[in-house]
Amino acid sequence: MVKDDCIFCKIANGEIPSATVYEDNDFRAILDISPASKGHALIIPKEHCDNIFEIKADTAAKVFPLAAKLAKAMKEALNCDGMNIVQNNGTIAGQTVFHFHTHLIPRYEGDGVNLTWKQHDTQAEDQQLLAEAIRTLL
Ligand code: 5GP
Ligand code: ZN
Repeated sequence: MVKDDCIFCKIANGEIPSATVYEDNDFRAILDISPASKGHALIIPKEHCDNIFEIKADTAAKVFPLAAKLAKAMKEALNCDGMNIVQNNGTIAGQTVFHFHTHLIPRYEGDGVNLTWKQHDTQAEDQQLLAEAIRTLL
């Protein structure tokens, strides 16, 4: 299903043209219009879902194999030194387009891309309680 007024539904399904690097029945991969670095690409499922909290398991299962395939081709084509795979869910997490997508951000020496966060101390007991709270819902 596509969603009215969703730009990525339109791009993924070819209604709006894009610099496409890959397409199959389920996905289109395109170059980001405002790239963090040269070759920054997005994997976009053709079926609409807002984010990872809503994605179907069979769609999710196809994302990483495709990311790996694209990453290898991009490394060779772009001659990048590394790559970040980034996937934002929710405004707080930096999501600006509310149609699930995965970023492939090629990294180059001195590119200035910044994806860092501050690290915090933890207590082992607290970590065990958190792990259990999550585990019981799986
Ligand atoms: P988010 O912040 O939601 O994780 O990422 C959205 C990404 O989509 C941004 O990097 C932004 O540059 C890209 N983007 C937004 N609109 C368009 C568009 O119309 N075409 C393309 N190719 N990329 C877009
Ligand atoms: Zn959509």
